[in-house]
Order: sequence, then structure tokens, then C-alpha cells
Amino acid sequence: MKHEPVRPEVPRCSVCAVPAVTFQRQSGRHLCSTHATADICDRVAITIQEVAMIVPGDRVAVALSGGKDSTALLMLLSRLIPSWEGVSLVAITIDEGIAGYRDETVRSAENLIRSLGVEHHCISFVDLFGAPLDEFLRGREKEACSICGILRKKALIVGADRAGATKLATGHNLDDEAQSVLMNVLRGDLSRLVRNSGTDSSGRFIPRIKPLKKISEKEIATYLLLNNAWTDLPECPYSRYALRREVRSLLSTLEYRHPGTMLHLLESKKKIETYCAGTITPEPIRHCRVCGDPCSGELCQLCQLKRSLGR
Ligand code: SF4
Ligand code: ZN
Repeated sequence: MKHEPVRPEVPRCSVCAVPAVTFQRQSGRHLCSTHATADICDRVAITIQEVAMIVPGDRVAVALSGGKDSTALLMLLSRLIPSWEGVSLVAITIDEGIAGYRDETVRSAENLIRSLGVEHHCISFVDLFGAPLDEFLRGREKEACSICGILRKKALIVGADRAGATKLATGHNLDDEAQSVLMNVLRGDLSRLVRNSGTDSSGRFIPRIKPLKKISEKEIATYLLLNNAWTDLPECPYSRYALRREVRSLLSTLEYRHPGTMLHLLESKKKIETYCAGTITPEPIRHCRVCGDPCSGELCQLCQLKRSLGR
């Protein structure tokens, strides 16, 4: 007698019972494409509304690099924002000038903008600082990410200002946030660990928001795949010098073996913030004597960098 091969049963969506495409470890639910997408969209909306990240009257600028996180962020916000009264959306792309990398991601950003019909502003390091990042980094490759970070921060502020934005949204996800906690611990930088990046008591900078901070890198990848928005893009050639790269690989191994590790890191940060509340005196805000931007010393980071680059 011939036996039919036993087929493993396809898991069904826990919401609607059609065949599932993904398994959500934290909730133990299987989800179909529609409900996996809706789940991410709902969780982003809750993250935003919980702390009033976006309020009526806001013009939200998304920092769109063209990479996975910012692509998902713009797609999600362009679904959510039209239903929020008095809120508008704009995208800002910074072209740092990194040969063999940025051109492709900028192209990907432009394709997305065309398909979503969002207003778009592009700013390059060449326009703003007189040369591409590649030129600034000659002989200083190991400092790539800190130099890039300082210049990029300024470029985003200028971009958001030019676009008339009231909030600047970045695509930082759960993995990024957990990596930052661990990196600050590894560097022994407690004040940075408890400082809430993005807030600026001087009121001179546009507040930064991170609507994807509770969504993991894996969930973002799933969202893009399910919404036909996945593109294979090159990695920044300087990322090999970054501490973040090693921390990222360490944390993903830990998260795989011990699910919840990343969330626990974020909870630890919150607890440390509570224990430290009132014990760390914030440095008084001064103004850079060259450009007038708020800073803690005589010169802001950008003016110090420009000086060291001979600019
Ligand atoms: Fe800039 Fe470093 Fe990111 Fe490359 S990996 S874009 S150098 S921050
Ligand atoms: Zn300055």
C-alpha cells in the first residue's frame, strides 16, 4: 500500500486564519501578510501617540537615506500621517559623498519618493561643507563614523530648517537603540547613556523623534519584503571601522540565543536613568564662539572638526 507523504501543516494567521507568512516571537502569534503589516503600522502609531511625538500642526521631516530603516519609516508615516489632521510630511536626503555606496541609496530614495509622491529635499556635503566625505576622511578612515556623524547632524538640521519642519524623524530601530546602550556602556560614557538624544533644552534645534524604536531590524526587513519594497543595497565601505558593527553582531547572536536581550538592554537604560535622575548636573549650555550653535565648550563639535580638517 502506497502511503501519501505527510505534509507539515502550514501555520495559520492568529487573526484571520489564512496561511501565515511570519511568526512573531514576542507575542507567540503567526501572522499573514495583511496582519503582519497592520501590526507594525499599529505599533508605530502607538509609539508615536504614547508620548505625543507628533502633534497637530507638525511638519515632519523624515531623514531618508534610502536604506531599509528610513524606507520603512517613510512608507509607514505616509500611511499614518494623512489621517492625522494638520500634520504634513516631507523627506530629506543627505548625500555625504561616499563613492560606490551613496549614489545607489540616493537613487533608491528618489524611486521611493516618486512612488509615494512626498515632497523631497536633497542636501550634499559638497554643497554644505565644500567637499565629499571621502575627501574629509583621507587618512582618517578609522574616525569615519564620528566625523560623518557630526557633519550629518548639521546637514540634517539645515535640511529640516530649509523644509520648514517642526520634527525630524529618523529610522532608528530597536536593534540600533539596544546597540547604542551597549556602546555607551563599553565606552564608559554614562552621561551619554542617560542623556535623551534629540532633546535640546536650548530650543534651537528641531526635536528628533524615533517612531521605529520598538520595531526590530528583522521586523523591518519582513515589512519591506511583504510590501515589495526590499532592495539589496551596498553597505557603507567605512562601516568596517565602526564599533557598532561588532556590537551589532554580538547582540544579534545574544538575541537569537536569549530572546528579549535587546528589550532588556533598553529597560536597563530606563532604570539607570531613574536611579540617576537629579544626580547628574547637565552641563551648562554655552554658544560656540564661531558659529553660535549651542554647545558645552568654547567651540561646537562641528567647528572643532572643521578646524582639525583645516577648513
Ligand atoms: Fe557615515 Fe559610518 Fe554610516 Fe558610513 S557607516 S554612512 S561613515 S556613519
Ligand atoms: Zn560652531
